[in-house]
Amino acid sequence: LVSRKSKREDTVIRIGNTEIGGADSVLVAGPCSVESLEQVMEVAAALKKAGVPVIRGGAFKPRTSPYDFQGLGFEGLKLLKEAADEYGLQTISEIVTPAHLEEAAKYVDIIQIGARNMQNFELLKAAGDMRKPVLLKRGLAATMDEFLHAAEYIVSRGNSQVMLIERGIRTYEKWTRNTLDISAVPLLKQMSHLPVLVDVSHSTGRKEIMAPCAKAALAAGADGIMVEVHPNPAAALSDADQQLNLGEFAEFIREVKSSGVYR
Ligand code: PEP
Ligand code: MN
Repeated sequence: LVSRKSKREDTVIRIGNTEIGGADSVLVAGPCSVESLEQVMEVAAALKKAGVPVIRGGAFKPRTSPYDFQGLGFEGLKLLKEAADEYGLQTISEIVTPAHLEEAAKYVDIIQIGARNMQNFELLKAAGDMRKPVLLKRGLAATMDEFLHAAEYIVSRGNSQVMLIERGIRTYEKWTRNTLDISAVPLLKQMSHLPVLVDVSHSTGRKEIMAPCAKAALAAGADGIMVEVHPNPAAALSDADQQLNLGEFAEFIREVKSSGVYR
């Protein structure tokens, strides 16, 4: 069902006044984790100013260590929604268990399924039973075939509003956090009708190459870009090294939007 062979036209996902997968490029930005109302309000104001329609922020964080900040849970989703409503933005946040989906749907416009859960099949099925847009992240070591089959789990349950996001894969290279697989973009666009985004934060982990990588992604046909932004990255409770501060974010947006590849 996710294949171009089954449907030729691009799938366009509408949330509020925003279209993902349509004529215009879309930007999704926000902190790695929701930490406080002040934090998400400050980011939401910056997004509004920059014309970014969707705010991201994790509340259920899949951390490598159980001793690291695990997220604010539903309280975090409420804070994210409060900030989004204040500035007329849409929300996106990761949900990690089927048990949370229904309650989360009150606060989240797009359900994110994280890289570590790309093959959590019960979560995929439960997201497929919802009638909410889903952002599916590529697994840490997932092939194209595995990625598209994971999307198929969702779509085959009747939820056609799925977007794919390349977020870097594990390779031997250590100069970047992961390896941004730019070839995934045209491959996915050719093989599937679903919208394709690129996360330049988790793929590169390096602020100084995020804008060029975003431009490369858009030039390769990506429908949108995700980037992490935090008012005070040094004090962030997760991914402190890779989050842009508000000034860097403004410069990133300016550089990406002024490039010829931003639609
Ligand atoms: C995230 O986007 O918050 C995240 C945890 O990313 P990933 O699942 O790609 O590691
Ligand atoms: Mn992060």
